[in-house]
Amino acid sequence: MEEYDVAIIGAGGAGLTAGLYASRANMKTVLFERIGAGGQIALTDDVENYPGFPEGVTGPEIAERMEEQAKKYGTEIRTEEVQELKEQGNRYLIKSEKAEYLTKTIVLASGASPRMLKIPGEQELTGKGVSYCATCDGAFFKGREIVVVGGGDSALQEGLFLTRFATKVTIIHRRDALRASAILQDRAKENEKIEFIWDTVVEKVEGEGKVQSLKIKNLKTEEITDFKTDGFFVFIGHDPSSSYINDFVQLDDHGYAIADLVTLETSRKGIFAAGEIRQNATKQLVTACGEGCTAALSAQHYIEDLEG
Ligand code: NAP
Repeated sequence: MEEYDVAIIGAGGAGLTAGLYASRANMKTVLFERIGAGGQIALTDDVENYPGFPEGVTGPEIAERMEEQAKKYGTEIRTEEVQELKEQGNRYLIKSEKAEYLTKTIVLASGASPRMLKIPGEQELTGKGVSYCATCDGAFFKGREIVVVGGGDSALQEGLFLTRFATKVTIIHRRDALRASAILQDRAKENEKIEFIWDTVVEKVEGEGKVQSLKIKNLKTEEITDFKTDGFFVFIGHDPSSSYINDFVQLDDHGYAIADLVTLETSRKGIFAAGEIRQNATKQLVTACGEGCTAALSAQHYIEDLEG
């Protein structure tokens, strides 16, 4: 069975930075990813707040470059879904869909995935007009009218991006105040293609084989109306990708890993949590990367102690 010093789960900013630091410290490092490198950054069009890129950088580009940098120093990347973690003596056993591996330390960096509204029609019409990724699907809506739901940074940033394709973007939010940052609020409110519908929720997605309309409800008047649209983008936050952890380390009630704020060590020695999987993470690319670095350094100290 292949044995590693550091096994990283997840290839977003946290995981790729942990890989870079762990490999540069000459630790034998493997990184497991489910689909492709980048995590949530790869789904983001423009990253404007990663220091060192005053002109901005696209999400896929920075993800690709981070992966290249981690690989350059020896991080082995395996596209295998991790299914279970177990203890084996003073090592950990990682079971993936393909094989089993031993490791001295683990960095949990599996992030979070987009939350669904869980309303009728949403799942059936996903990929047929319902989307959770503007960068992936925006171009399909050239010349069309679309709806975005959510009031945070993601809804506004992705809504703004979608105005490059759509003729009109209607942002439906359940309250009358946004939680997005001021700069994004200003840009969205100034954009002529963006309209807001406040105090409203979407209750049903309707269409024959593709999205055609939404049933929306005004929470103040309780009035229900049909709203015609060609596309429906949902940006209402994320849920942690932690099902494989299955209480192997302590999770909070929402499924986020609880970790020490200095070392990022979880409730189990030698297992660290970095990035959005961690409870109370700042959820920014730059902090995810910083946490990946901290987790790799903590893993290194743990191994030094383990081996005297
Ligand atoms: P978020 O900040 O948690 O916002 C989620 C939004 O969806 C909120 O407005 C929330 O409404 C709404 N919502 C949640 N559940 C809903 C439901 N069932 N039905 C209708 N609306 C619902 O999530 P996010 O925008 O994905 O951002 C996540 C984190 O990433 C944040 O920390 C954010 O700052 C960060 N981020 C940063 C950037 C950037 O810096 N440019 C870009 C993207 C994301 P309420 O407001 O009523 O709760």
